[in-house]
Amino acid sequence: MSRQELPWEGGCRCGEVRLRISAPPLLTMACHCTGCQRMSSSAFSLSAAIPSEGFSVTKGEPVIGGLHGAPHHHFCPHCMSWMFTRMEGLDWFVNLRATMLDDPSWFTPFIETWTREKLPWATTPAVHSFEMLPALEDFERLTKEYAERAQMPAAR
Ligand SMILES: [Zn+2]
Ligand SMILES: [Zn+2]
Repeated sequence: MSRQELPWEGGCRCGEVRLRISAPPLLTMACHCTGCQRMSSSAFSLSAAIPSEGFSVTKGEPVIGGLHGAPHHHFCPHCMSWMFTRMEGLDWFVNLRATMLDDPSWFTPFIETWTREKLPWATTPAVHSFEMLPALEDFERLTKEYAERAQMPAAR
């Protein structure tokens, strides 16, 4: 994983919505759940958990899509790219879809979730695999381990 200076810029497929990330991710993930398979039109979704204070929409106005429930899935209103998710009650981070970044080349998933629903051939280089989700109390250990290994740049 290469260190890259913050802030990072990103955007949707059409460019109507643009994002800026000014804090390093707490954790990176691949999710194999069938919901993510449908919403990403692919085998799994890729997320970087960005501290909320380090995440901003700099252009455009994302709209809610996906589940329209407790996870607030944000999409570009024009090209409909699934861009990021905010979880109700977990408002200290934003789950950015990593491929929205202009340069996602640094990204590798540190953990993978919902492997019980994964497509049989789908594998990732994740260090930790979970049949479903890690327990809430595991997150502190995982984010600590990720911070040590990933050597992310300092927040700006
Ligand atoms: Zn768009
Ligand atoms: Zn998922």
